[in-house]
Amino acid sequence: MRRVVLKLSGEALGGGTFGVAPDVVRSIAEQIAAASTEVQVAVVVGGGNFFRGAELSQAGMDRTRADYMGMLGTVMNALALQDFLEQTGVQTRVQSAISMTQVAEPYIPRRAIRHLEKGRIVIFGAGAGLPFFSTDTVAAQRALEIHADEVLVAKNGVDGVYSADPRLDPDAVKLESVTYSEALQKGLKVVDSTAFSLCMDNGMAMRVFGIEGDGSIADAIRGAEVGTVVSA
Ligand code: UDP
Repeated sequence: MRRVVLKLSGEALGGGTFGVAPDVVRSIAEQIAAASTEVQVAVVVGGGNFFRGAELSQAGMDRTRADYMGMLGTVMNALALQDFLEQTGVQTRVQSAISMTQVAEPYIPRRAIRHLEKGRIVIFGAGAGLPFFSTDTVAAQRALEIHADEVLVAKNGVDGVYSADPRLDPDAVKLESVTYSEALQKGLKVVDSTAFSLCMDNGMAMRVFGIEGDGSIADAIRGAEVGTVVSA
């Protein structure tokens, strides 16, 4: 059975505001649940709707402490997503990279694989548990560790990888496909460069797509050719 790691940014779960937007999380959860009967799905959640370490550090906080705050934000997103997924009737497990046994299992990759094999959706929270990392990179790492077929990076505000930043360059065009080295050379920041490198070095496939549009998340999970495919 196809196995994917879906990366959802905090911004997507927050609907553009601070905190979680329940209606948005519900609609995302319904799409994931619908597709999860055909595909094994693990989700890595971001935390940008709460805190980003780099931003707090620019505002004067110690970077590592700020990054831990960022990671804790991802756990709140994981719990919100878990709740709306379970309301649809699917089974889920949250695994956290920072131990907090009252709310989540610890991250145990072999157990995550077992959950997926049993048809449960696994949500990875707390990033890698390491400051200076992003959840994009964690999505790539988790995909490698649980032997996923593909990393699906869901973006909001952009529907794939562009030749340049479309918010800054009016001539930017959407690419059907791009290689990791091209993306890195051109400094395309739609996905974190560490995530691109990790996938490039280890032969992991990636698809970058937009969450806007009906059913795009479910389509991407099922293997539709949405957005941009990034390959070695
Ligand atoms: N973070 C971290 N280590 C990790 C993952 C996340 O320190 O392994 C922190 C970092 O401060 C980051 C914040 O958590 O800014 C939220 O994650 P991210 O920015 O990747 O979320 P997204 O932009 O996808 O919502």
